[in-house]
Amino acid sequence: MSHYFDHAATSPMREAAREAWLRHAGHRNAGGQYASGRAARGALEGAREEIAALLGAEPVEVVFTGSGTEADNIAVLGLYRASALNRAVGSAVEHPAVREALAHLGSREGAEVEWLPVDAGGHVCDLSALDRPAAVATCMYANNETGALQPVERVVAAARAVGTPVHIDAVQALGRCAVDFRALGATTLAGSAHKFGGPRGVGLLLARRSPAPQPPLFGGGQERGLRPGTQDVAGAAATAAALREALAEREAEARRQGLLRDRLLREVLATVEDVRVNTAQPALPGHLSLSFPGAEGDSLIMLLDSLGVEAATGSACHSGVNRASEVLLAMGVPEREARGTVRFTLGPETSEKDVEYLAAHLPGVVRRARAAGMA
Ligand code: PLP
Repeated sequence: MSHYFDHAATSPMREAAREAWLRHAGHRNAGGQYASGRAARGALEGAREEIAALLGAEPVEVVFTGSGTEADNIAVLGLYRASALNRAVGSAVEHPAVREALAHLGSREGAEVEWLPVDAGGHVCDLSALDRPAAVATCMYANNETGALQPVERVVAAARAVGTPVHIDAVQALGRCAVDFRALGATTLAGSAHKFGGPRGVGLLLARRSPAPQPPLFGGGQERGLRPGTQDVAGAAATAAALREALAEREAEARRQGLLRDRLLREVLATVEDVRVNTAQPALPGHLSLSFPGAEGDSLIMLLDSLGVEAATGSACHSGVNRASEVLLAMGVPEREARGTVRFTLGPETSEKDVEYLAAHLPGVVRRARAAGMA
C-alpha cells in the first residue's frame, strides 16, 4: 500500500469530479450552432457560472485554459505586452510557470525585472519595488514548496496604488483557501483543477475585463480570445464539481490536515537530529518542507519510495542533477542543506495511519541517506 504525500504536485481526482466528467464526456463542440452545440455550451457556461460564484468573479472573467502553467503565462506575458511600460516585478519564490515567463520578458522582450525578496520563512517581506509603476506585478498566493502564504492583499494594494496590474498565482491556494477575486482586487489570477481534485489538464484564469492581457495565442476566439481552441466541456464540468466539494469541506479539512501536519512535525523533531523546518506560519495547513543536512534529497525520496512513501524534493531536478531549490536559496537556506530537502504535502485522503507510518520510518531513512552522503 502506498502512502501518498505529494498532494501539492497533484491530488487524486474526486469522485464528484469523475462523475461530472463522465456525465459530460459525450458533448460535442460548444461552438456548434445546432442543438448538440447548444447543449455543450449550456454545460460549459453552467460550469463557468458555478466557478465564478465560488471564487467571487463574474462568469465573463472565468477563462478555461489547459493548465495552471498556461494561465500564468497568458497573464504575465499578456499583461506585460498590453502595457507601454517595460518594468515587471515578481516575488523571488515564484513557480517556474511565472519565474520563467518573467525571465523570458527580461532576456527577450527588454523588460527590467525586479524581484521582491523573502525572509527566512519564505514570506515576501519588502514591497518597495512596487512603489514605481510597472507593466505587471505578480505574487503567488501560496508557495508550492514551503506552503508559505504570501501577503497578497498588501501586494495588490501597493501595486494598484500606482496603477500596476497584478497577477496572482493561486494554483496552490484554490480549494484550500477562501479566495475571493473581487475582494482581492487582482487583475488576473491563476488556478489549476488537478490541485483540488479536478482533472489534470484544466487550468483557470480569472481575468478582469480591463486591463485585459494581450493574447499570446491566436485562433478561433474562444475564451474571450485569451485561450482560443475548442473547449473541454467535460473538464470544465469536472473542475466545477471538484471546486464545489473542496470549498465545502475546506475549513474542516484545514483543521484536520493542520493537526496531522503538526503531529508529523513533532514526531520528526523528537526522533531525528538536525532537522531544518522550512515551512513557517502562515502557511497552507497540509505543507511540511524539511531539510536533513548531510543527506541528498534524491536519496531520501528513493528510500521513502522503496517503503511505499511517495513524496517530492519540491524542486524540479534538471537532467538528473540534484540541484538546490531556488525557493530555499532565496530564503537563505545554505545550499548543502537545501539539497537534503523533502516536501510532504497532505490531502483529503491522508489518514492518521499514513502519518504514523511515515513518522515511524523516517528516522531510518534519514540515517541511511546520511550514511550514503552527498553526491
Ligand atoms: N503555480 C504553482 C504555484 C504550482 O504549484 C503549479 C504546479 O505545481 C503551477 C503553477 C503549474 O500548474 P500546472 O501543473 O497546472 O501547470
